Amino acid sequence: MTIIRGATTAERDSGEEIAGAVKELLDEIFARNALKREEVKGFLFSLTSDLHSRHPAKAARESGYDFAPLFACVEPDIDGGLPRCIRVMLFTERAGGAVHVYLRGAKALRKDISEIYNIALDGPAGSGKSTVAKRIADDYHILHLDTGAMYRACALAALRRGIDPGDAEEVEKMLNTLGLEIRYEGGRQHTVLDGEDVSEEIRKNEVSLAASDISAHPAVRKKMVEMQRKIAAGTSCVLDGRDIGSAVLPDARFKFFLTADSGVRALRRQKELAEKGQNVDFERLKEEIEKRDKQDSEREFSPLKRAEDAVIVDTSDMDIEEVVAKVKSLIQSKI
Ligand code: C5P
Repeated sequence: MTIIRGATTAERDSGEEIAGAVKELLDEIFARNALKREEVKGFLFSLTSDLHSRHPAKAARESGYDFAPLFACVEPDIDGGLPRCIRVMLFTERAGGAVHVYLRGAKALRKDISEIYNIALDGPAGSGKSTVAKRIADDYHILHLDTGAMYRACALAALRRGIDPGDAEEVEKMLNTLGLEIRYEGGRQHTVLDGEDVSEEIRKNEVSLAASDISAHPAVRKKMVEMQRKIAAGTSCVLDGRDIGSAVLPDARFKFFLTADSGVRALRRQKELAEKGQNVDFERLKEEIEKRDKQDSEREFSPLKRAEDAVIVDTSDMDIEEVVAKVKSLIQSKI
């Protein structure tokens, strides 16, 4: 017997509101665990006393979860507990592990059973990893950590201070006074440098090459990797970068390596920059992308490298929807 847990919240005590939240929660639990109905032997809901306990079982039944006994009860009030919270336990007959699901701000009350998992998404510039990572994070209600943004912020700091990003000694000195922070607002990453939100500025084309230069220094990598590991240890997240599966989180539960032809990647970058009002010549972008690939792959420390156990996804002939669907189906098949 394996028990799968989940929780969610409702905005108010209404049948309709609770039905929506319950359906979403059960759908997610089934999807993320690749659960079959015959594996489920019973559902137990518990609700905080500010919600009526008649709603969840009815909602579950009406959403098609009527193939196993359903039971709902009111749980005791816990100091500091979340208001309007719906918890569920699924009693299942399965041998493997369980992915517990927490949605809409609900949290696991017991740290010992709340599982943190990380998804490593590596690949060269323009392979689509950042867009895919955002989508996966949104769909799974987990965080997205764009690690490239951190190296970009280091590069921006150097450029602003007139430091050559290739000068190891100067860059290392700069690290001691680097005020880099990663903040999340409404689930979105904000990259903050010395108190200023530089999330937009670091996307500028001139920062890209400087980021590739600066990321080659071992001292820079050490500092960034420490920050990345700390964030990943505290919360489930998708990390996109160059060395996540191979060096930052070799034990990540899921690992992917996205690739695409350099011409396709240059076109994507051109479109992306044009949307932000920057018009850059295609040939120049292609050359820069190839230069960055070469620099990132040939550097001595933590080069751009596919982890042996990462699944390769060639995105050259795929649109974003197809890549997201592919990565998600690979995740489901591994659960
Ligand atoms: O992914 P993005 O283009 O934003 O990354 C900018 C640069 O930061 C890359 O070219 C690469 O040199 C560096 N980087 C890295 N390791 C990571 C992420 C990015 O070296 N994990």
